[in-house]
Amino acid sequence: MPCPAGKFQLLKMTNLRLSDQCEELQSAIVDKAVTLVYGQASRRYAVIVANRFQILPNLGHPLEVGLLQVNDAINFYPWSGKPLPGCLFNERIKVIKDQLGIEYSVSIDETLFPPELVTEEWWLRRKFGPTNAVLREDWVKPRPVDNHILVRAIDPLLGFKRFGELSPHMCQTMSDKLNDIRVMIAYLPHTREYGFRVIEPSEPIDNQSIKVRSFRYCPWCGDALPENLRIEWETRVLAQGFTLDAMDYPATPPSGFPAALASDAWWLAEGL
Ligand SMILES: [Zn+2]
Repeated sequence: MPCPAGKFQLLKMTNLRLSDQCEELQSAIVDKAVTLVYGQASRRYAVIVANRFQILPNLGHPLEVGLLQVNDAINFYPWSGKPLPGCLFNERIKVIKDQLGIEYSVSIDETLFPPELVTEEWWLRRKFGPTNAVLREDWVKPRPVDNHILVRAIDPLLGFKRFGELSPHMCQTMSDKLNDIRVMIAYLPHTREYGFRVIEPSEPIDNQSIKVRSFRYCPWCGDALPENLRIEWETRVLAQGFTLDAMDYPATPPSGFPAALASDAWWLAEGL
């Protein structure tokens, strides 16, 4: 079932768990290849930040472990544009101190905690409602910026490539994330797709090709993104006699492949 659109729908205690969310979100979280992670105990959704040579074996881990990788929090459901419930990191630290009498630190062995404190159970029982800053009246939405994806750090490794074409959606935060090549999102100009990277977690990112689990709303400002043109792109590629296996995500046009279909040129020319 796709995520129902509808921004700023009322968040209730009955729809804050991961299991209350749409299948698109749930499947992205449990898939160890997708760089979107969820810490159920901290109620935090984030995109992985990766470095050269780094291996990311804990993606999709059922507890907080996936979040121990460096990561950037997101604000909105990427498939509905609704605000996320909001993180409870500080609230959890207080509960741990009150209940267990210990100061929290990231090196604590959480396997020794009572089971409820490493799952969604503790905040559900205590009825911690929405805490997302975007729900506050004083939240300042990231402003649109008018620029290309400026890759300040050109990286020769395929796995850290950014495409240079103009992104149709570009708020300040999206711009910041795309300009940081370590943030595991991508904009694919030839299909006009935005997505979380799909990776092989047991290998470094360095030489992995750019594949995405595409999303429809900006995770940082909540705006709807332009329509995904993957089906239209595939139709044109097949019509020209090419197969899709080897060129799902061409970083450079293969020999004999029309250059326009390897960039945003084709859909700009067609006015899509
Ligand atoms: Zn945005």
